[in-house]
Amino acid sequence: MEDSPSSLREIAEKMLSEDPELGASLAFYADMLATILELSMKVKDQLEPMESRYRELAKEVTREKRSLLDLAGGVNLPDDVWMEILENISSKVKEHREELSSALDTLIEAAKEGQFNPADLAKYSIKGDLNYARGVAVGLGLDLDLVNAVALWTLQPVLVALKRIAEKDVEVEEWLEGFCPICGSYTRTGFRREGKNYLKCEICGMEWPHPESKCPFCGSENVSSQSIDGGFLLYRCGDCGEYWKVVDEDSLEERIPRMLYPVITFPVDEVATQTDEGSGSEG
Ligand SMILES: [Zn+2]
Ligand SMILES: [Zn+2]
Repeated sequence: MEDSPSSLREIAEKMLSEDPELGASLAFYADMLATILELSMKVKDQLEPMESRYRELAKEVTREKRSLLDLAGGVNLPDDVWMEILENISSKVKEHREELSSALDTLIEAAKEGQFNPADLAKYSIKGDLNYARGVAVGLGLDLDLVNAVALWTLQPVLVALKRIAEKDVEVEEWLEGFCPICGSYTRTGFRREGKNYLKCEICGMEWPHPESKCPFCGSENVSSQSIDGGFLLYRCGDCGEYWKVVDEDSLEERIPRMLYPVITFPVDEVATQTDEGSGSEG
């Protein structure tokens, strides 16, 4: 079942009332995701002329072992659509983080004046190429982390739309890679349902089965696991040192939108990074 913007906002409000400390960051995260889902519906309409091409390419993903985004050579949208997404994302951040208002106004103003291209900013960021974002940040005197976060949020509705169009055409059962078959991102988040493990992309929301004995980052089978209170599992790779988090849905009392899993599993990140610092003193 797909998460809806209203279910995300409802659950965030409920969690905010139960735990104000975790709740504030959760409310921001959930509201941003809800906004991203709403924007993705508009983007999906824009991409309609390309739908059959994306769906055809999605069928090639498993054979080519490359993501759909990679096979398609990116996603082309008119500049005004990118600008609209950027503005929506930026006002959502401002609602929750007033202290960032003037920085975000500077960013939007510069985009409108053509000092940088929002589409390029978003596209370079997902490739992990921070030079474009760094150029924007330095040129405008802004924090690189902020520019980079806004860039990824701006790209997210586009990738969610791509996932909506093509997810059913990907042969997920045959997809053996650790990265997302739609957008190519690596993820630290997964879930376990009826005894089987899945990974869930933190960017586009794609889900695919993944064997629990295999590291999604390097493919090694030197993997250990540990139960964490709250119905979570922590997996670690003995070779590359990466970890990933799995929500055991079979033990959850109520359904939580899966898009919130990266945040509700923060306690797992804490355990994972603490033990890292203890360098091998496990047990
Ligand atoms: Zn993805
Ligand atoms: Zn590994």
